[in-house]
Formats: sequence, structure tokens, C-alpha cells
Amino acid sequence: MCESDSAACASSQNSSRLPPVAVIGGGITGLVAAWRLSRAGRGVRLFEASSRMGGAIRTLHERDGWMPEAGPNTLLVKTREFHALIDDLGLAARLMQANPGAAKRFLIRGGRIRAVPQSPVGALVTPLLSPPAKLRIAAEVLFASRRERAEDLSLADFAREHYGREFVDYALNPLVAGIYAGDPEKLSARLSFPFLWQAERTHGSLIRGQVAQMRARLRQGGPKAALISFAGGVQTLTDTLAAALPDGVAALDAPVKSLTPVSGAPPVPGARTSASEARWRIRWQDALRGGGGAREEIFSSVVLALPAAALARLEIAGARPLAPLAAVDYPPVASLFVGYRRGQIAHPLDGFGVLAPERERRRFLGVLFSSSLFPGRAPDGCAALTVMVGGTRQPRLARLPSDELMREVLPDVSRLLGIRGGPVFTHHQLAERAIPQYNLGYERHLAVVEACESAHSGLHIGGHVRDGISVPACVASGERLAARVLGEA
Ligand SMILES: Cc1cc2nc3c(=O)[nH]c(=O)nc-3n(C[C@H](O)[C@H](O)[C@H](O)COP(=O)(O)OP(=O)(O)OC[C@H]3O[C@@H](n4cnc5c(N)ncnc54)[C@H](O)[C@@H]3O)c2cc1C
Repeated sequence: MCESDSAACASSQNSSRLPPVAVIGGGITGLVAAWRLSRAGRGVRLFEASSRMGGAIRTLHERDGWMPEAGPNTLLVKTREFHALIDDLGLAARLMQANPGAAKRFLIRGGRIRAVPQSPVGALVTPLLSPPAKLRIAAEVLFASRRERAEDLSLADFAREHYGREFVDYALNPLVAGIYAGDPEKLSARLSFPFLWQAERTHGSLIRGQVAQMRARLRQGGPKAALISFAGGVQTLTDTLAAALPDGVAALDAPVKSLTPVSGAPPVPGARTSASEARWRIRWQDALRGGGGAREEIFSSVVLALPAAALARLEIAGARPLAPLAAVDYPPVASLFVGYRRGQIAHPLDGFGVLAPERERRRFLGVLFSSSLFPGRAPDGCAALTVMVGGTRQPRLARLPSDELMREVLPDVSRLLGIRGGPVFTHHQLAERAIPQYNLGYERHLAVVEACESAHSGLHIGGHVRDGISVPACVASGERLAARVLGEA
């Protein structure tokens, strides 16, 4: 393995004599970090509290070929680094680009489904927005000038300044429901969509700025943005990462309770000692071992890839420095996967899905046309939809038990898409704390994370609390965390 690159080989042999790194949290962020570290020759233990790896990512393979996604359904990939990871994992052949028809998206206005325009001419004639709203957008593209803001503001206020109220109500509001399950009146413009903030600074117009960002990415050899999944669903990614970890690295049912910096720890046999190396005693609950199973071990560095509530509970150096993160807003989201015989549905399902603006007062945030997006999600002759319910808009609905949820939501979906009769297959999953909301003032949470990291050498914190909520953002977070650990050695 080391024949072709003796320098890399020597470095990897040095690394392998360092004490192991503890990666805490077996979601996509922790898995990528653990895998990159072990690939670089570092000893690693990956601690996961539950009995499965993958965190929010979960694909089910049900009877007759139904394939519900209980977490993310699609990944919007824009970076070379993501594709490099897929290649390194040998996953390229199983990666699936969404059906090109998925570029077509729908919104509801006036109780009817309307296609989102995909061209300037389409934008001129669409009934989605009134003529004054269209004029306002055109004026922004032509005349908006660059702006450097001192103060953050809500995403809705930010977009209203550019495009007016109607755009916010009928375009931004449903888009934000589809991505964050959140409320644009509360989200921070600077943190929730940083590329829009940047577009205003560099180009004035958000539309011109985004076109320029895309062109710059392509000029620098970056890939075209692609909407992807895998033949076996999104969980293929986390399953492959978990399977690629060397034996003994991954510990399931192993919730970590505390991290304690250790001074004057006994040297690890055969390990290189380095002044810059911190030592941490990790205490975890080994649920698979009898008698309560509290265990502890010494590690060189610690990577935390946990949701906010878990970070808040963690005892670090005898205190709970991340306790303020308990206040991060995580609304609940129910994913209702419903299967029908194709003939039951009048709508052609010729696109990605349909999003519901809050003003339309529907019982759902959006409906994904799952079996139109990727093959293999429904048996032949059938169609699968994934209905997203709840978020900050309707948390009560998200928490309903399955039968009540279906009674409340499915008639509304059926009216919209022209569905006759009940589903032939259903799967319901509640994410009680689904997605962290980067609301106005979220900087105070980031400051808590930064203060904790700088107070403790050898402690690295990432994941969706800090680095972006999408799966590709979490992949990048895992890569960064691993690089930082390797950089300290
Ligand atoms: C319903 C839903 C739909 C989504 N849709 C999309 C989508 O379409 N596209 C997209 O890109 N993103 C989507 N997301 C967001 C994305 O899936 C998540 O932000 C991302 O997967 C988070 O990954 P993570 O590794 O940071 O955290 P997590 O996946 O939350 O993983 C953290 C892990 O830490 C473990 N843990 C907790 N406490 C401890 C402890 N004390 N010790 C050890 N382990 C612990 C947890 O059990 C968990 O496995 C969706 C999320 C949800 C919930």
C-alpha cells in the first residue's frame, strides 16, 4: 500500500503510533471525519449513542420494493470534494442523478398547482406572480447595486427589500419550508443563505450574484450542481462509510457522557509524545456490556459531531460549557411516505414536487414526487410521494400519531393532486428535532461553540449546528474536522 509514496507512508506510520482520536456522533459528519482519519493512518474510535450509524440519514427497504427515506431524500451537490469522496468510497457506480425532469418544480397559488418558471420567458407569463411583482424582480436584476450591511436582518426582510412582499409570500416562504422547515421571518439572512448575503455584497442583485457565483465555480473547474441520491437510497452513503471503517473503530450503543482533559496522563505504549498533543479521558456508557457499563479511555483529540441538544448535555472538563445550545430551535418534521397505484393519481408527477406557501393554509409543507425523482422507490405500476408535515409552521401536526396524521393530511394532498382512493402503502417517521434553525441571533450559539473550542486544545466541533444543515455541508464539515486533527499532529 505504501510502495508508491514513501513520504506519505512514513507520515502514516508516525500517525499510527499517536494515541487514537475520539469521534463522537455517528451521523454523516462523524462518519466522514472518522473515515478520513483512519484512511490517513490515525487510530480512531467512533462513538454512536444509538444502535445504528447514519444519524438523520435513514433509508428503509420495505415489502414489494417500496423505499421510503425517513430523513433526507436528495442531496444538492456542488463541489469537487464531494465527488472525490464518492470516488474514494468506490460509490460512483451507485450514485444516481435525479431524473432531469426534476428540474421542474411546483408551487401552490390560489389552491392550484403552478409550475415554477425555468426561463425568462416563462417568468414573464407565469401566473405565480402578479405583473407588479414581476416588474419589481426585473428592476432588481437591472438596477440593484452592491451593498455592505453592518447588521443582520431576517431572511424575509432581506428578500422583501429586493423583491417585495409577494415574492416572499409565494416563493421564499415555501422554499424555506422545503429546506429548513423554518420561518423566513425568523431566519438570519446572513447565516441561513450565506451565498445570497454574498451575492448582495458582490453584485447587488441576488439573481445576478448567483449566476456569477455559478459561473465562477464552473470556471474554476467545479462540477455543475447536481441533485443526487444512490441506487439504494441516501443511506448507501453512510452505510458505505461505516463499512469502510477498520474493525473495532465503530462503537454502537455507546453514548458519550463526559470528556476530561488529562494532564500528566501515562504515555500510551509506543506512542509518540508531542507537546501539542492534548489528552482527553472519554467516559461513555457501554449499553451492550452488563452492569451499567460505564467505560473510559484516553484519546489524543476529540471531534464532536453532535446535534445541539447532545452538545448541551455533554460534560466537558467538569462543566457543561455548551449548555446554552439547548436553546437552539429544532422544529419537528413528519415524513409521510405514501404509495399509490399510478392510475389513482391524476397529476402527471412530472417534476421534483410541490411546495406550499403558508398563505395557502395547506396541511403540509410540501410533497416530493419520490418515484419520479429516482427509479426503484416504488414497485412497477405504482407511485410514491413523500409528504413533509410540521416544521415551525405546524409543529402540532408533525407530532400527531400516524392514523390521525393521515386523516388530517392525506385528504388535502389528494385534493391537490387528484388522487382517488387511499394509499396502498404508508410509512410514517417523525424527526422530533429535525433541523437547527439559523435564526436571527444564532451568532451567540456559534460564539459558545468557538469559546469552548478555544478553551480546550485538541477539541474540534462541527456538524449541522455549526457548518450548514445540508448533507453535503455536513460532509464538508467532516472533512474539515479530520483535516484539523491531522494538522495538529
Ligand atoms: C426529516 C429530514 C429531512 C432532511 N432532508 C434533507 C435533504 O433532503 N437534503 C439534505 O441535504 N439534508 C436534509 N436534512 C438535513 C440533514 O439530513 C442533516 O442536517 C444531517 O444529516 C446532519 O448530520 P450530522 O452528522 O451533523 O448529525 P446527525 O445526523 O444528527 O448525527 C449525530 C449523531 O450523534 C449521535 N449522538 C447523539 N448524542 C450522542 C452522544 N452523547 N454520544 C454519541 N453519539 C451521540 C446521534 O445518535 C446521531 O446519530 C434533513 C433532515 C431531516 C431530519
